[in-house]
Amino acid sequence: MELQNKIDSTFEAKFGGHGTIYASAGRINLIGEHTDYNGGFVFPGAIDKVIMAEIRANGTDKVRVYSIDIDDYAEFGLTEADAPGQSWARYIFGVCREILKRGGKVEGFDAVFAGNVPLGAGLSSSAALESCFAFAMNDMFNGNSIDKFELARIGQSTEHNYCGVNCGIMDQFASVFGKKDHLMRLDCRSMEYEYFPFEPKGYSLVLVDSVVKHELADSPYNKRRASCERVAKRLGIETLRDATMEMLEAVKSDISAEDYFRAKFVIEEKERVLTVCDALVAGDYATVGRCMYETHAGLSKDYEVSCEELDYLNDLAKECGVTGSRIMGGGFGGCTINLVKDELLASFIETAKARFNEKYGHEPKIYEVIISDGARKIAEAAH
Ligand code: ADP
Ligand code: MG
Repeated sequence: MELQNKIDSTFEAKFGGHGTIYASAGRINLIGEHTDYNGGFVFPGAIDKVIMAEIRANGTDKVRVYSIDIDDYAEFGLTEADAPGQSWARYIFGVCREILKRGGKVEGFDAVFAGNVPLGAGLSSSAALESCFAFAMNDMFNGNSIDKFELARIGQSTEHNYCGVNCGIMDQFASVFGKKDHLMRLDCRSMEYEYFPFEPKGYSLVLVDSVVKHELADSPYNKRRASCERVAKRLGIETLRDATMEMLEAVKSDISAEDYFRAKFVIEEKERVLTVCDALVAGDYATVGRCMYETHAGLSKDYEVSCEELDYLNDLAKECGVTGSRIMGGGFGGCTINLVKDELLASFIETAKARFNEKYGHEPKIYEVIISDGARKIAEAAH
């Protein structure tokens, strides 16, 4: 409510009157890492941290938008030549352009927005921003005729074409499709998805952000991809989605040890997502947690995308009796995601902060998250 009130009063002060309020969420991925480009599964959910915007058509062909968090104002037209200079505004401009390019409608509007998704922490504040405006433009100007998958693709294309980020579809998918108390298993080959209940009574999800970033993301990422592609080619299949450990063992002597371990992780990770889904249906959070630890070990030892700080956080989690813990995201820094019994939560957070600070000279950031709804309308204009 606090966020909504702040946005509403700022809108009134900047533009007079009120608009319609929309929101969309950041996301976590419980399990399924480095699986997207191998045609496997990811398992994200939207969280209770959002970007919220108040928006009203202004009867012109200009967009006027104020970012509360950055305290900056942008004004731009809707043709390709009108791209704003500020990077935050390009996410909104990109969404408008991608809708127009697809034959949809966007007219001038006034907007004020703010959020509480931490920026650049791996919770996908950018997808929350794109999905919030894509959802709003669909509702305001297109009679909700654009389907939800297309809204996610509009956000993804915005990153590709206007923000220079060559991302997959998971973040925008999660932000648009997110549903309270549910995670979504997305099959990155067929794009089919399924909701699974996630109501971990007695447990919390907490992210521990190491606030370190070790390598330029591109080069190790591309090397991992190349390993996976080489093994798939050797196996005569399109992606490792179709590989089994038996198939991999059969070609072990023909491939490098490095490629073997990369492929091993991907094959095991695909299976782990399925195991976690079954465990959730059965309410078996101990198995969910065990799989998270296995993913961390695989990412660290076989896929080699961890780093000292993340391994340390994982060890601390184990030591504190945390049910499940692993790197979230591509690796080389960023967060661990932890499934923690409620009674251990406070002591785990205290221990992680103190011990990490002792060793690395700064505290990690802590984000508690609850699985929540994705893109939505919060209040009509006449509120
Ligand atoms: P993330 O992992 O959080 O998605 P990105 O670098 O992809 O990190 O996106 C962060 C960018 O998104 C910011 O630099 C800014 O341009 C935009 N952004 C995200 N949240 C906000 C916000 N609350 N206000 C303004 N811009 C935002
Ligand atoms: Mg992003």
